[in-house]
Amino acid sequence: MALPDPPYTTGSIRTPHGTIRTPALIPVVATSYGIWDLWIDGTYTAPWDLAQATILSLYHVLQYSRAQQVRTRGIHDVLGTSRPVLMDSGGFQYMKKGTELDPMDVLSFERQSGCDIGITFDYPITPDLDDAQRNTRLDRSIEAANLMLEHADGMELYGAIHGSSPREIETYAERLDEGFGGYGIGSLVPRKGHYAHLVDIMHTARTLTTLPIHAFGITGFPALYALSYLGVDTFDSWTYVVAAAYKEYIDPERLTRVKNLKKLTSLPSCDCPVCQEHGLRDFIEPTSEGEVLLSLHNLHVYLKEMASIREAMEQNELEAYILSKGESGNRNINRAFRAAQMKVKEKKD
Ligand SMILES: [Zn+2]
Repeated sequence: MALPDPPYTTGSIRTPHGTIRTPALIPVVATSYGIWDLWIDGTYTAPWDLAQATILSLYHVLQYSRAQQVRTRGIHDVLGTSRPVLMDSGGFQYMKKGTELDPMDVLSFERQSGCDIGITFDYPITPDLDDAQRNTRLDRSIEAANLMLEHADGMELYGAIHGSSPREIETYAERLDEGFGGYGIGSLVPRKGHYAHLVDIMHTARTLTTLPIHAFGITGFPALYALSYLGVDTFDSWTYVVAAAYKEYIDPERLTRVKNLKKLTSLPSCDCPVCQEHGLRDFIEPTSEGEVLLSLHNLHVYLKEMASIREAMEQNELEAYILSKGESGNRNINRAFRAAQMKVKEKKD
């Protein structure tokens, strides 16, 4: 099959629990934090009721009081959703904590959870590693990925890919066995504001495969636009809930975070369902309810933008759409998009 070429358009990822239309933002379900029980108990509309799919990290699930239920009843039943669920191995969080999981245990848990797509256990790299350390971690990630694929037994598995340069990404991908359903590109977070690097890595990954590619931990609007333009299929984000924890409201027009809500008398207007019934006074309540409502507003903004990106793509107007968003407040939108455009042009020349 011919490799895809820009301009990219919308796509779809089929799973046992339905199809995800791409590009899509997949909210992170961080079960081990307090407010999630309110969602799991059905007290409020949950992120998985709003988004096309959700993603959980094993790091959060395994320390969750309902981890055993996830094993026995399955993740869909525990969350109360019939939509696609992805299960990330949590390699990035385990790295930060300085611990590791056995890739075979990860595979076993992912399978027991009944997730639609599992992701291989990985050993992310950071810019401070020397060559030997980096190569060791890349080797281990590749070994873990191929081992898990060998024993996947029909479960859809995304191979985690890491690299500090396009060349490393290419070499890594060549060493992965055939049979993955898609690829998740990691180690992006430490340099996520470095747009030239980000688009270089993701553009390289896109040109290597026709399968879905996922960008781990990339959540800012500038990067979401630029990487959607480069044909990246999915993103994961928990910014909606982290921002809410800090009492930050995402401005639906300017796409910037409005901070210090307590000092404000009004908020930029929003037509999302949450803001039809709630407002500033509810959002600043120092309660779980305030946090839940604010995070749902934030998530609505993200999901609406992703829907607008897909719509613009289908009308072949994505460039014009991104440029129009760049004019409305967040300067990094233009910076990231210019980097992406340059990358596409450079590779064509
Ligand atoms: Zn709203």
